[in-house]
Amino acid sequence: MKIHCLQTGTVRCKQFQLTGASNIISRFYQLAFTDKWGEWMPTYCWLIEHQEGLILVDTGETAKIYDKGYLPDGGLYHKAVETRIKPEEELPHQLAKIGFKTKDIKTVILTHMHGDHIGGLVHLEHCNILVSKTEYEMASSKKGAGNGYFQKNWPTWFQPNLITYSDGAEGNFASSQKITEDGKVIVVPTPGHSIGHQSILIKAEGYTTVLAGDLTYNESTLKQEIPDVLLNNKAAKQTVKTVHQYVKSNPCIYLSSHDWNAPNILADTKIYKEEAIA
Ligand SMILES: [Zn+2]
Repeated sequence: MKIHCLQTGTVRCKQFQLTGASNIISRFYQLAFTDKWGEWMPTYCWLIEHQEGLILVDTGETAKIYDKGYLPDGGLYHKAVETRIKPEEELPHQLAKIGFKTKDIKTVILTHMHGDHIGGLVHLEHCNILVSKTEYEMASSKKGAGNGYFQKNWPTWFQPNLITYSDGAEGNFASSQKITEDGKVIVVPTPGHSIGHQSILIKAEGYTTVLAGDLTYNESTLKQEIPDVLLNNKAAKQTVKTVHQYVKSNPCIYLSSHDWNAPNILADTKIYKEEAIA
């Protein structure tokens, strides 16, 4: 099953998110009062050529971030994250480079609903859009804006189908949901980075491709069990342990949404090896 990596701009966050911080006070201090930014990282989404139809995982960033009022003027948002994208880097242009159009896509799975993962939704009204029920309910609630979700930017038609993980265990994940009839594309709940974050498992060619979204920034932080979270959070710690165990126990390739190395891992089918990562 062919999987394509599409880059829509770049993003950076505070360094402690990439390398961890000792405690919640340190995290909050570095978030709010320092300018210790990490490196600029890519923002990826993924196209899966499945026989039942094209599946897009996440939709990338949009150049609308530069429109007045699209992002908040002040507050913690701009202390936590910065994004960059040119209009010609958006989803339709990245698809065109590999010979596809947005109208070719049948299904969209969102790992979560932060802006750099849903910016391309505007092009995908015709699709079956899938998101975790927990994530959608948080993003739609009054708490949404305070948690980095901007409902006013969603397309007016946006009414996703909500995932509740009704298909039982998958490996050491307690619950899962099959997306395709052949059972080869599965979503599992991976809460932590966001309350209803989910990851996608694609079983083909004798290994599993894990599209991990923002669970960790790369394989190395997975090995060290450093989740991508703003503030310490128990769910994230448990999730990163579960995913780490899964990729150690099954032949997997592990792809994060913001890992410069992800296209190489994908192109060379680099199966995750515990001992090979520093
Ligand atoms: Zn995110």
